[in-house]
Amino acid sequence: MLTTVTRTDFDFSNEQEAFRAELGQFLHERLPDDWQGIFVEGDEGWQLSLDICRELGERGWLTMAWPAAYGGQDASIWLQAILQEEYWAHNEPRGPQYMNVNWLGPALIHFGTDEHKAYFLPKLAAGEMMWAQGFSEPDAGSDLAALKCSAVPDGDGFVVRGHKIWISYGDIADYCFLLCRTDPTSRRKEGLSVLLVDLSLPGVERRPISSTLGYHRINELFFDDVFVPRSALLGPQNDGWRVAMTALAFERSGSARYARSARTLGLMEQRHGDEWDDTRWEQYASLLAFARATELVNYGVISKKETGEVPRVEASAARIHNSLLEQALADFAEQTTGLDFIVYGADDHAVDNGELESMWRNSFAATVTAGSYEIQSGIIAHSLGMEGRR
Ligand SMILES: Cc1cc2nc3c(=O)[nH]c(=O)nc-3n(C[C@H](O)[C@H](O)[C@H](O)COP(=O)(O)OP(=O)(O)OC[C@H]3O[C@@H](n4cnc5c(N)ncnc54)[C@H](O)[C@@H]3O)c2cc1C
Repeated sequence: MLTTVTRTDFDFSNEQEAFRAELGQFLHERLPDDWQGIFVEGDEGWQLSLDICRELGERGWLTMAWPAAYGGQDASIWLQAILQEEYWAHNEPRGPQYMNVNWLGPALIHFGTDEHKAYFLPKLAAGEMMWAQGFSEPDAGSDLAALKCSAVPDGDGFVVRGHKIWISYGDIADYCFLLCRTDPTSRRKEGLSVLLVDLSLPGVERRPISSTLGYHRINELFFDDVFVPRSALLGPQNDGWRVAMTALAFERSGSARYARSARTLGLMEQRHGDEWDDTRWEQYASLLAFARATELVNYGVISKKETGEVPRVEASAARIHNSLLEQALADFAEQTTGLDFIVYGADDHAVDNGELESMWRNSFAATVTAGSYEIQSGIIAHSLGMEGRR
């Protein structure tokens, strides 16, 4: 069931605000003035993002909220929220932290063996290792339980065979968090397991997929009888659905996308507000309210995480708010600046350096990636006992 938030005062402490200021200054200094995020900036932008992530790792800023036993500082989870907010408010220089800090580290801490934790967590904390999430298949997207990728137990490991699709960063990832069927006789959610697969193993093939999302690095991954050692099993064998759903809950609630929406909204007001009539100002005001509501829904999720609980349904609510806000903002940009804004950033005629165009183009995928809007709504409806009602 959806729970009420455990905290109603979301003011940050002076110490937390000081961290925000220091981090914001760091990002401001490291990023070019016209930085628009990795999906626009290409290979150079990717390299800069990777460098920034490693620098943050060196400063110990990526995983402060992790337990000290696992390389963290036992700090408040709100510092991690600030890290996310500042990243997104600076057009997210996305590096390994996007997956590693948000959901992979927590999933490894939750389900990993001592060996997993000792090997992987220090690398994640250092901002060094790139991961891919291998869930979707050509006939198993929203209906993930229909997945067919098999990992047949064989001696001291598994032989993996299958095809994954829409895998972000699959071309550059070192490892894949692979959901596959370890019991060949099983159906649906039973008999699945998560394997932490080294993508340099023989039999792995990566094929990039072009998309309208720019440098999003979406890929197909093919596994052709790849032998994966038993030590790669994360969590209990044949209980991988629970492991994957826990990881997804962390993922859906780990991105402060609302912070970038708030930034874009502010920029639009600064750059175009002079030309707005009353109707535009009303639309702007209602978007501001939506952005604040989205922020609060996300804070509710963080306050649940603070208690050590996994925010499953709340994560879906946060995800829906974040993605609908982006799409509402994209509509507003379209109405406010006319068709001019769809000129790509590299073109001299681009409005606001192409920032609105990039936001608009990527907003379409917001209600698909990490589980579609309809599926998230279904999760919430199920938790409220609304299934089957019309
Ligand atoms: C930018 C991007 C990055 C991605 N990165 C990854 C990744 O790293 N790893 C990974 O594993 N996957 C990734 N995905 C895949 C993503 O998780 C799937 O696209 C998503 O789960 C939807 O699955 P599908 O594409 O097969 O669409 P389908 O499942 O075919 O859905 C098509 C439409 O039908 C609707 N629909 C389907 N079933 C229902 C239902 N029961 N009730 C109501 N409506 C329904 C959906 O909401 C959707 O609108 C990514 C996708 C995108 C766009």
